Amino acid sequence: MPSFVIAEKCDGCKGQDKTACMYICPNDLMVLDKERMKAYNRDPQMCWECACCVKICPQQAMDLRGYADFMPLGASTVPLRGSEDIMWTIKFRNGTIKRFKFPIRTTPEGSIVPDGGFETGTDDLKSPVLFTEPASLGREVATLKK
Ligand code: SF4
Ligand code: SF4
Repeated sequence: MPSFVIAEKCDGCKGQDKTACMYICPNDLMVLDKERMKAYNRDPQMCWECACCVKICPQQAMDLRGYADFMPLGASTVPLRGSEDIMWTIKFRNGTIKRFKFPIRTTPEGSIVPDGGFETGTDDLKSPVLFTEPASLGREVATLKK
């Protein structure tokens, strides 16, 4: 189920041109109502529930109605990001609170090699193979010749 904004908590990211939730949404769904200074999801049906907006919101003003396989119906889930980990607080309808903490990375910040050390060629966009192939397959990949 899609994410939603808790209007009382949202401060519109203090009127910046692009709010945090607008910046992070891969589906370009979040918009800011500049009159009310509140963000909203303009097309909840298109939301794929990645929870990026929920995690990035500096005011913890976004929530997600999670599926029953990871939280019970009616519970709320609020993340708190740190530099090393993220804490999820699940609040049940009966008031019970559970917290789960997970590391968010296994490498020092800024140390990631974007291409994973694989060489890239100039014709990669025309190629049918995936980015790391054929090296990651350990064998040659047959390609169609025109
Ligand atoms: S990131 Fe949070 S505080 Fe900022 S506009 Fe979106 S919902 Fe509001
Ligand atoms: S959950 Fe993901 S797809 Fe849905 S509005 Fe938030 S960032 Fe966009």
